[in-house]
Amino acid sequence: MLYKKSCVLLVEDDPRVLRLERMVLEKEGFSVVAAGSGEEALEMLAEITPSLIVLDVGLPGIDGFTTCSRIREFSQVSIIMVTGKDFNEDKVRGLDLGADDYITKPFSPNELAARVKAALRRSVMSNEVVEPTVQVGELLIDFASNRVSLGQSEVFLSDTEYRLLSYLARNAGRIVTRDQILERIWGEEYVGEDHLLHVTIGRLRLKLEDQTRRPKYILTRRGIGYSFPTTEEIGASAAVGVG
Ligand code: CA
Repeated sequence: MLYKKSCVLLVEDDPRVLRLERMVLEKEGFSVVAAGSGEEALEMLAEITPSLIVLDVGLPGIDGFTTCSRIREFSQVSIIMVTGKDFNEDKVRGLDLGADDYITKPFSPNELAARVKAALRRSVMSNEVVEPTVQVGELLIDFASNRVSLGQSEVFLSDTEYRLLSYLARNAGRIVTRDQILERIWGEEYVGEDHLLHVTIGRLRLKLEDQTRRPKYILTRRGIGYSFPTTEEIGASAAVGVG
């Protein structure tokens, strides 16, 4: 596995949490380095290039959000934000600032290991050649011809619907926030116009989903945004026998 040799930078001021994170990741075969503050992390990043950063929101000095946006000024490294429980605004804010994912305190060792491995897998994939098609379940998107089909039937989408679906599919397995979608598909001046997004998502679901109230392809991440499943995720939901 490619990620086995990866180096992970942990940014955490609580020694107990840090000890747990370090133990979990070293057990998974990662090499681990740690910083106790955002400032220290930024200094370290001048010297080292980790494959992934696990970044606590609540830090002494500059907080995790500021640290995240400073890192994004010079690096596309995968970042997982560690947020407090039940703070959807924090999750959205982290993702809007360019974090790839978030994990909520308190987390289990397995959860942390799974998130880290998933984020590294995604960053490996995104460095590969962009796929000309995406097939998930019955749904096929052909980016070369801009065509979408479900099983044997072609699905006719408006330009906006197609761009929205493509954007989600290109980011399969990760959550994109409402503002990220609005900015990308409609433009910066539409950020905050959630009703526009809501209506377009509704129309897409009518065209793509068997049951619009139990969508398979366009998943709602309550309070945060939307996501498109990976082939593995849709396989897992089929195996459980949804519907
Ligand atoms: Ca903290």
